[in-house]
Amino acid sequence: MSGSLVVVGTGPGKAELMTPATLAALSRATDLVGYGPYLDRIPARGDQCRHASDNRVELDRARLALSLAAAGRQVAVVSGGDPGVFAMAAAVFEAVETGDPAWRSLDIRVEPGVTAMLAAAAEVGAPLGSDFCAISLSDNLKAWTTVERRLKAAAEADFVIALYNPASKARPHQLGQAFELLRKLKAAETPVLFVRAAGTAEAEVVTTTLGAADPSRADMRTLVIVGASTTRQVGRWIYTPRSERGAPS
Ligand code: SAH
Repeated sequence: MSGSLVVVGTGPGKAELMTPATLAALSRATDLVGYGPYLDRIPARGDQCRHASDNRVELDRARLALSLAAAGRQVAVVSGGDPGVFAMAAAVFEAVETGDPAWRSLDIRVEPGVTAMLAAAAEVGAPLGSDFCAISLSDNLKAWTTVERRLKAAAEADFVIALYNPASKARPHQLGQAFELLRKLKAAETPVLFVRAAGTAEAEVVTTTLGAADPSRADMRTLVIVGASTTRQVGRWIYTPRSERGAPS
């Protein structure tokens, strides 16, 4: 049997948010490749090989997965959330582009998953109800000036902004810098949401404003949503109305 590679996402955390198509792809796999904590979300099976690695070596992990598939294995590469959002799917295609030309004819598929932004939005209401964008604050793979340029453009275009990777031990100051930049361009009362462990039993939500937002509330399991000018509170929910007629231009 010839090999194959499927890139899947486990969703934000709880088992019900892993799609049936992802579960089916995982059950067909002979080899699972991924970051250890994501592999831990998948029940162990004695006949499957697990290749756990740490979080920083995405391209090496992608190359390992492609070599296994080229050797005839049925490989599942496992990300958290959706595999195409700041995750392994792009690393697999980058490895194909720069690697063995034979990898281009492998059977490679991507299964969509529930990304953190969607789970976080659902915890608080419907903050992504109108146009939104997603920005990763990590500057491991791009310059911080690029992040700043995109934040500025997103604020000027009045998008709701979902911030992935808002903080890590190696980068404690970046979210504070991002808020400072946004405060120059957006109203102080703009809703800001810190959603930690969205889509899990431990989900925690902090609702605040851009003026009052404390960057130290974010950690690696937090998604931050910064509202647009129309984003508002009704009861205990936050939403962005579909209709922007009458919104400031
Ligand atoms: N592929 C993943 C994102 C990887 S980037 C996805 O589609 O969700 C990792 C970042 O995602 C984290 O730093 C955090 O900002 C966010 N994240 C992942 N899972 C989360 C969750 N359950 N709750 C809140 N944020 C989460």
